[in-house]
Amino acid sequence: MKNLNSNSEAEDATPHNRMIAGVQVKGKVIDHQTRCTHYHSALDIIAIKFKCCNTYYPCYSCHQEDTDHVAVPWPVDERDTKAVLCGACGHELTIAEYLSSHNTCPSCHASFNPNCAKHYGLYFEVDGRSQKNEY
Ligand SMILES: [Zn+2]
Ligand SMILES: [Zn+2]
Ligand SMILES: [Zn+2]
Repeated sequence: MKNLNSNSEAEDATPHNRMIAGVQVKGKVIDHQTRCTHYHSALDIIAIKFKCCNTYYPCYSCHQEDTDHVAVPWPVDERDTKAVLCGACGHELTIAEYLSSHNTCPSCHASFNPNCAKHYGLYFEVDGRSQKNEY
């Protein structure tokens, strides 16, 4: 790949990697609160770090489109890892903190999208029954 000397600051609607609160978030990010082309409701303000590449993406689809490997969910015994970024305040939550946050940022009290719970199995290993990816 060539060196991208892009001056993309002006094109704010263009999806691209962004620095959010000093943290790089990759993928099709469309605003400074981690919304992406896939999920961009008022509540979609978190990015998740993927274990496989140690990189924040706004969502699973962003990860799949930006990489050519399968996302690895965080194992249960690594829940004290900071892997969730609040796009509202830039606070990094551990997985345990996020899973017990009741969809509210412990730092700025912004609301997270409760529908993310449907996809927890893509990001985190869930104890008890395993939610396998259907690929
Ligand atoms: Zn990855
Ligand atoms: Zn996305
Ligand atoms: Zn916050």
